[in-house]
Amino acid sequence: MLEQVKIGRYCCAPSTQIENFRPLVGDDMIDELRELAKDLSSIRICNINATPFGGGVAELLSREIPILKALGVQADWRIIHGDQEFFSITKSFHNAIQGQEFELTDDIKDIYIRHNRKSAELLTSEYDVFIVHDPQPAALRYFNKHKKGKWIWRCHIDSSAPDEGVWNFIKPYVESYDAVVFTLKEFVPPGLKVSVQEYILPAIDPFSSKNMELPGEVYRNAVANSGVDLKRPLIVQVSRFDPWKDPLGVIQAYQLVKREKNDVQLAMIGSLAGDDPEGYEILSRVNEESSRDPDIYVFTNLEGVGNMEVNSFQRAADVVIQKSIREGFGLVVSEALWKETPVVAGNVGGIRTQIPEEMQGFLVSSVEGCAASLLRLLNDSPLRREFGKKGREKVRKEFLYPRMIRDNLRLVKRIISS
Ligand code: UDP
Repeated sequence: MLEQVKIGRYCCAPSTQIENFRPLVGDDMIDELRELAKDLSSIRICNINATPFGGGVAELLSREIPILKALGVQADWRIIHGDQEFFSITKSFHNAIQGQEFELTDDIKDIYIRHNRKSAELLTSEYDVFIVHDPQPAALRYFNKHKKGKWIWRCHIDSSAPDEGVWNFIKPYVESYDAVVFTLKEFVPPGLKVSVQEYILPAIDPFSSKNMELPGEVYRNAVANSGVDLKRPLIVQVSRFDPWKDPLGVIQAYQLVKREKNDVQLAMIGSLAGDDPEGYEILSRVNEESSRDPDIYVFTNLEGVGNMEVNSFQRAADVVIQKSIREGFGLVVSEALWKETPVVAGNVGGIRTQIPEEMQGFLVSSVEGCAASLLRLLNDSPLRREFGKKGREKVRKEFLYPRMIRDNLRLVKRIISS
């Protein structure tokens, strides 16, 4: 069987009990979730992705699975096997599906197929529903021998204009699924024929260690202990080191801000994921830039930066920056807004859906525009507060876990009865 990601005893922890969410999201939502969970209590669901840590999918599953279990839904999380070569290829596929050109060779196809076929052979038939995340394991359904069960492919990235060669290669595998889920309707790639297509926006868990309330003294101390001077303005980015997150563009925008505001600091917190070898190369370019400026701080999960530090930095920041060039959703945007921290972000994909209507002017499409938005917010603390408050309210209404889990369970219910 594919390796199962252990979630320990989280499902018994107070933070995973759905009743905690009632005051935040209201009775209707929680009551519907309880009903859905009851209806699906005999259904076994298996989520499959490529990595247990790093990036949004691992973040989502690490909290969704314990909450589902606490609700009485039998949900597991398993990961496919892969070596460095496979993950380099799947990272290229990820980039190609987000629109980067890629030269697909027979050897590359072969490696992708070989790994997916092997993982498919390791799947047992004990589940009723499989939810397969992103392109890395997309061919599992096709190569799976057991005919039992319904299969959902959940695509988390912006697949609206994929590289043709890679998409034509992946498409038949995707079309073997019973249903597909994209974050936005506009992400559905050209010519895809799957009869059930859903659009589900991700969400955050306000009770996780990454998002839970922290006393000011605690988060400020945590940030100050890292060397950052909290008496000076602070811009924070939390992101994998990935070309689509444009980390070098972030540094350029910060450098423009610094010309006007000499005391500004930039903290870049970046995790490195098991299925993302490209991250290490980008980190070394970021380190090169930061070594020339003592006000740029770079922290990674390899140095032990975890959820509490991310939480602390997102709270202590004057402005969070997420200057993505493409973005499926960008959980970090909701994470920051939930903490009432304003966000200057790329005017792309799922980011747009998270920024409150009155603040959409802070969505940016260039380094210069990004610097101007940062400066405007850094120079205006009432505006920062207003942005933060509106942001938190939007996240409360639209981007907390119960809504996402409800949408996912509604789909499961729909496909098992089809
Ligand atoms: N993250 C983290 N530490 C880091 C960088 C990222 O914990 O150093 C988390 C971040 O808080 C968020 C997730 O990883 O929960 C990234 O999700 P997002 O949707 O923003 O981007 P993705 O990595 O999926 O493209």
